Amino acid sequence: MKLWHHYHTPSSIDEALALLDHYGGQARVIAGGTDLLVDLRAEEGEPFPALVDITAIPELTIIETRNNQIIIGAGVTHNQIVRSPLLAANATCLVESCGVVGGPQVRNVGTLGGNVAHALPAGDGTTSLVALDAEAEIILNGERRWVPILEMYQGPGQSLINSTHDLLLRFRFAPSGKGEATAFKRIMRPQGVALPILGCAVWLRLDGATIVESRVCIAPAGPTPLRVGEVEAFLNGQPASERTIHQTAELGQKVLHPRTSKYRATADYRREMIGVLLRRTLTLAVQRAQTGAAVPEGVGM
Ligand SMILES: Cc1cc2nc3c(=O)[nH]c(=O)nc-3n(C[C@H](O)[C@H](O)[C@H](O)COP(=O)(O)OP(=O)(O)OC[C@H]3O[C@@H](n4cnc5c(N)ncnc54)[C@H](O)[C@@H]3O)c2cc1C
Repeated sequence: MKLWHHYHTPSSIDEALALLDHYGGQARVIAGGTDLLVDLRAEEGEPFPALVDITAIPELTIIETRNNQIIIGAGVTHNQIVRSPLLAANATCLVESCGVVGGPQVRNVGTLGGNVAHALPAGDGTTSLVALDAEAEIILNGERRWVPILEMYQGPGQSLINSTHDLLLRFRFAPSGKGEATAFKRIMRPQGVALPILGCAVWLRLDGATIVESRVCIAPAGPTPLRVGEVEAFLNGQPASERTIHQTAELGQKVLHPRTSKYRATADYRREMIGVLLRRTLTLAVQRAQTGAAVPEGVGM
């Protein structure tokens, strides 16, 4: 089955934009292809006139620190994130989430940018980027700008950018500072290789024995990824204790209303798992913030 007519591999952003412009909405950006090719096969439509592969553009394949911000190119693969010591220490939750995406083959080619541009609320990379309060750099209608990560999501599978003429370039967020730490955990069917039943990423800052600031993302819990404001508001100012974690888990179960999904699980089971995930991620993030040691857990190679 032929899926496209022309395959282009530009080596610069300008070249990629010129190609998209040339095809006037008839070409589509591709990165690892692990979402796009599955979709194209399922659609069984006419072959795409052209695909524009962004993974050879140097600016889109970097992981670096600049002006005390971590920058990750949209074309960086899940495995490159898993192998980055910079990210293991400073964005542990992101390493943990990218380390459980699919299997080794998917992680070898699937990119963080593709995970975000596909715009599913349960994308594992997405969940951690939300907890990290990341921003995404995009070229939207010809204008290059940074937007908060949550703005990228307009509905299930609906991105702010149109991948037939816009580009997602890079992500940026602050590295973990003193007393700060992150963690990610997810619940998955044992045989599952696609999207999780539920994922949870947490970022928090301790001042002594007190949680002074937190960000919590549980997904999917709505049509777009979201932060659980009630949980964050409760956590901030609480002692970093087992009792706080227990109370937070109970609160999360009250304020979130997951629905029954034939692909995932029943609403009751998912509500129960919200408590489990909050307990696990908060316990881990508190330990990391207290000790300053962050070794990613559960990561496949
Ligand atoms: C077997 C299997 C298991 C999977 N398991 C998981 C899982 O456990 N967790 C999970 O989160 N996901 C999973 N996925 C989904 C997928 O692998 C990830 O979402 C991956 O990160 C997608 O990245 P990609 O580079 O392959 O995107 P692609 O398929 O190349 O692109 C996805 C979409 O984004 C657009 N796009 C890509 N890059 C850009 C860019 N820079 N600018 C503009 N538009 C862009 C494309 O046009 C397309 O619409 C799985 C997929 C498969 C096939």
